[in-house]
Amino acid sequence: MRITPVLIAHGGAGGRGPAAERPERRRGMLAAVQAGAEILRAGGGAFDAVIAAVRALEDHPLFNAGLGSLLTIEGTVEMDASVMVAVPPPRRAAVAAANPRGAARGARPHAELRAGAVAGITRVRNPILLARAVMEHTPHLLMAGAGAERLARRAGIALCRPEDLVTPRARERWRGAMARRAEAAGSAAGGAPGRFGTVGAVALDARGVLAAATSTGGVSGKLSGRVGDSAIIGAGTFADAPGAAAATGQGEAIIKAALCREAVMALRRGEPRAVAERAIAELAALSGGQAGVILVDRRGRPGYAHNAEVMDLAMFDAAGGFEYRWALPLQSLGRGAPAPRG
Ligand code: ASP
Repeated sequence: MRITPVLIAHGGAGGRGPAAERPERRRGMLAAVQAGAEILRAGGGAFDAVIAAVRALEDHPLFNAGLGSLLTIEGTVEMDASVMVAVPPPRRAAVAAANPRGAARGARPHAELRAGAVAGITRVRNPILLARAVMEHTPHLLMAGAGAERLARRAGIALCRPEDLVTPRARERWRGAMARRAEAAGSAAGGAPGRFGTVGAVALDARGVLAAATSTGGVSGKLSGRVGDSAIIGAGTFADAPGAAAATGQGEAIIKAALCREAVMALRRGEPRAVAERAIAELAALSGGQAGVILVDRRGRPGYAHNAEVMDLAMFDAAGGFEYRWALPLQSLGRGAPAPRG
């Protein structure tokens, strides 16, 4: 079967945000997908493609990841990121030739899975590169704190000052969030963290490799030290033989639902759009939370769903080209979908 490479990125699910920012968000999303698509078009891998797309969004100040991350209650940046790649198992015939006894017993080859993640990062402009370094240069999967930042130095990832990641826009939003918090003090919702805006990408390459990557500054007004789903493999990011997934939204709800692993495993029985919708409905039923998920299956079929107000999406498909979507809940995405709105 010939595989058509596909890349989907999201710029977060949440409130509509200022209309004036929409054209630039669209441009940023398409530029990020373009960066990943160039890699896929040149015959490169899904893993490099999702990293390139997420890195471009981390560098863009309008998205809540890397530069422009939302701030903690103390006004500081603390970022989470994760990556995962699934290399498909060799075909059954090749397995039987290499290991006739295993084949005779019916042993089922599994995809080779690799992952890396970081939490609470304050001094790295591109946390997605550090998550990749955890995967490639350590025996571990999730690292945090000073040790993770030491790894950055060893892996040749530039460190910056924490304040270099704070944009005027993020500071202004923080002031607004703090004012709302003060107003709401005493009410049950007074301490609840607000907006979302994480970035993520999933891809399938021509060799059938599936990859997912997610990066975030977390939710605004979070307590210092809070870690969300974007650092947790299985919650905010996942890839395995059936597909790849990346999530956004209320991290606590996403972790409880193990959203991305549940969605990827459900791809064994369903197609991506229906699977994404069911996964979000189950999350909402479980916790009442708001979230979004993007998916690609091993055949390159895309899917997404969210129950927030909107979700930014962009997609590259080697057969259909580029598409951007400022998606309301329950719109479909993919080949033959209606023209982008925005
Ligand atoms: N899921 C992220 C978190 O809870 C936030 C987001 O998606 O915007 O940290």
